[in-house]
Amino acid sequence: MTFSSLGLNTSLLQALHRLGWVTPTPIQLAAIAPALLGQDVLGCAHTGSGKTLAFALPLLQTLSPQASRQPQALVLLPTRELAAQVGDTLRDLAQQLPVPVKISVVFGGVSINPQMMALRGGTQVLVATPGRLLDLVAQHAVKLDQIKWLVLDEADRLLDLGFAQELNQILALLPQQRQSLFFSATFSPAVQTLAHSMLHEPVWVDVRPDAAPPVDITQRAIAVDASRRTQLLRHLITQHGWSRVLVFVATKFAAEIVADKLRKGGATAEPFHGELSQGKRTQVLADFKAERLSVVVATDVAARGLDIAQLPVVVNFDLPRSATDYTHRIGRTGRAGLPGLAVSFVSAEAQSHWRLISKRHHLKVPLESVVGFEAQDEAPAPSTDPNAAGNGGIKGKRLSKKDKLRAQAASEGIDERTRHGT
Ligand code: AMP
Repeated sequence: MTFSSLGLNTSLLQALHRLGWVTPTPIQLAAIAPALLGQDVLGCAHTGSGKTLAFALPLLQTLSPQASRQPQALVLLPTRELAAQVGDTLRDLAQQLPVPVKISVVFGGVSINPQMMALRGGTQVLVATPGRLLDLVAQHAVKLDQIKWLVLDEADRLLDLGFAQELNQILALLPQQRQSLFFSATFSPAVQTLAHSMLHEPVWVDVRPDAAPPVDITQRAIAVDASRRTQLLRHLITQHGWSRVLVFVATKFAAEIVADKLRKGGATAEPFHGELSQGKRTQVLADFKAERLSVVVATDVAARGLDIAQLPVVVNFDLPRSATDYTHRIGRTGRAGLPGLAVSFVSAEAQSHWRLISKRHHLKVPLESVVGFEAQDEAPAPSTDPNAAGNGGIKGKRLSKKDKLRAQAASEGIDERTRHGT
């Protein structure tokens, strides 16, 4: 099957050819045709399986380049890096088209003025994170009343409580008549219900069960004492000659500490988290992609959607808070059909949480030991601390802002599972 069978016009087919994209991926095969017919789409496919082109192609084919100075298409994403990445893909395609299409990318953490200036010249496609978009609307730099296409990428994250208020504000600014395309690798039944309430008779496209796992992510779990994880990480990097590793930790503080320890051990390592300046975040990601850095120690701000070509290994130094986050984290490796390895460190106190993640994903991953790093700590007795229960059983963590929001929603009678994909 080729792209030409999907109803795409000649300009886009030539653009795809020039960019070296020959065969559509399963999500592209399933979603492009209904999107071109004007239908709403709720698309679910594994991480790294080509969701960006699945919405970018129909969008670029359908919009009218010179119709209006205000954007006709809005692509919303949860993180700045993802916005930049999706903007790049759209621009790569748009540059190949005979009639220019202007793509603007806006996100927080950087000065708003250049973004306001850029929008003054008009734009057709606006790629944005929700908070900055609302700032720009408030400053009258952009209007959303001409939007005909709304794309939510990493939709379940945007539908989560953490973004609910901003998303509702944005939806209220959009015309009722529009086409919506929502994509993610994970949609719990509850989030699907919520998404359906925002879509008009959507086509549900789920290519996960059909295709053999699109990627070959080997998963390993290693039992290790919490205090020995950095040493084990260093050992594994050296022993296996891992050229590039993305390491996930639970907090910004841990990202700094672990990166620092790795640097002291001779590795080129940097932290990546939400408290760094956007300039630093962009630099770290660029260095990692260009293989100038061998290790990035990140919080979950790097878990969603980031496309780091040929990243061979992801390590869960701390386990993710939820089974959904696990999917997104390990999906940073094994992308575009390449093999990948995901290693989770399981300390004694995280064992019950690991069992929950394994159960949710039907994983049959044995808990291994590495010689010289055998776990000595005992698993703690089940906690009666309500905070521990609220954060997925990871003992000793305080409730996050998001957990507090969930608790508040629960006390107000909103079932957490209807608002959160975990
Ligand atoms: P995405 O899931 O959109 O982030 O895409 C993951 C990776 O797959 C990116 O590196 C894309 O460039 C690549 N990709 C997307 N579509 C195709 C395709 N049809 N053929 C080959 N590679 C693709």
